[in-house]
Amino acid sequence: MTLRTRFAPSPTGFLHIGGARTALFCHLHTRRHQGTFILRIEDTDTERSTQEAVQVILEGLTWMGLPPDEGPHFQSHHTRRYLDVVQEMLAAGHAYVCTCSRERLDAVRERQRETGDKPRYDGHCRNANLSPGAEPHVIRFRTPQEGEISWDDKIQETIRFANSELDDLILVRSDGSPTYNLAVAVDDHDMGITLVIRGEDHISNTPRQMHLFRAMGWEVPEYAHMPLLHGSDGAKLSKRHGAVSVLQYREEGFLPSAINNYLARLGWSHGEQEIFTMAELEQLFDVSQLGRSAAIFDRAKLLWINGHHIRAATPEQLLPELAMQLARLGIDPPPSTEELAPILPEFQARAATMVEMAQKCRFLFIDSVLPYEEKAARKHLTPGVQAPLSALATALDALPEWLTPAIEGAFQANLAAHNLTMGQLAQPVRVALTGSGASPGIFETMVMLGKQKTVQRIQAGVVWLRGA
Ligand code: GLU
Repeated sequence: MTLRTRFAPSPTGFLHIGGARTALFCHLHTRRHQGTFILRIEDTDTERSTQEAVQVILEGLTWMGLPPDEGPHFQSHHTRRYLDVVQEMLAAGHAYVCTCSRERLDAVRERQRETGDKPRYDGHCRNANLSPGAEPHVIRFRTPQEGEISWDDKIQETIRFANSELDDLILVRSDGSPTYNLAVAVDDHDMGITLVIRGEDHISNTPRQMHLFRAMGWEVPEYAHMPLLHGSDGAKLSKRHGAVSVLQYREEGFLPSAINNYLARLGWSHGEQEIFTMAELEQLFDVSQLGRSAAIFDRAKLLWINGHHIRAATPEQLLPELAMQLARLGIDPPPSTEELAPILPEFQARAATMVEMAQKCRFLFIDSVLPYEEKAARKHLTPGVQAPLSALATALDALPEWLTPAIEGAFQANLAAHNLTMGQLAQPVRVALTGSGASPGIFETMVMLGKQKTVQRIQAGVVWLRGA
């Protein structure tokens, strides 16, 4: 039997980092076992589901490199099918019409609370044999009252529920709409899902869904319930802990390969190895090797992994991210791939995030007047360097070729002529070229900037210090 898994997000917000982890685990496990990964959009809650959220989920999955093999399927397109299944259940006696009013149900619940019982449906209509008439009604599932239901979860131990703990869940609401558990069970069957990988928060739904499978005589899939993501304070990960949307991590300069590496390592390990490429994860990862304790989200570690991935990344992986970050820093339109490719190695070695890389190389792409960091300019662009800076601009302008040895020769000659040390001239030049006192090597910086911008910026530095 070939493996079929699904990721089934509800399009009611952004793609949460916890949801992304579920998608990643489905993808990785499926790749390892050469199965099919299906995307199903659970949009039965029409009030809260939006087209925009669907778009954000698709964008997030694409960015992370987790495209589904099949789908997206939309639950809202399957309403007819869900209701047909309920008709079959009614005919076979697995479901029944319930006309209990809200007032009655509230009163029952109130009584249960008073006597310390678990609030649940009391089965009032279970044997009343009502037919669906004009009266407002719901359709409930006739849950077996005796025995227990259990499954060997691929991550947790065997999980058991006494049937007496499960009440007769609603399959169809009084407005005729199918409920969540019904839709999930029907779709998991119809889509031939063999393994359901989802968060631990769904464990209580599983016995209900399994009962629906059994009532229909369908083969029940396997289940793997993953521990949830928690923040460093132990609470379930939420906005309070910082970014929770996958695309926000993108904006903060994380690479998808680093996010995937980091998320995979939360609860899973392979010896002592920390850094994994996606290809390695696709070969090694198996949900059955996941630990059972909650995974704690640790931003410092994510940053560390991101630095590794930035250093190891190919230009194809980095260029779109760098261009996006430069655009966010006001370089618009962002530089082309051809402009960015040659400067990558210089900055790749030193950045923990793509935001940092963009901040460090932004000076190269500024066409208007370069702004200076106030402190660096006051410190280094002093009257004493006016003459050597002017002379350097002239000498560089006269160079027939723009290569490091020639640039360095002109620079050294200028130092000697003005009796200056390297540092005494390099720092003022650095401020003039980059606006700050920190940059890659001064000659590398000049080569990257090109002759025209280098000469213009040194001349502008002279003008600035005359006015200062
Ligand atoms: N739509 C559910 C959610 O977003 C997931 C349901 C499932 O995986 O079975 O939490």
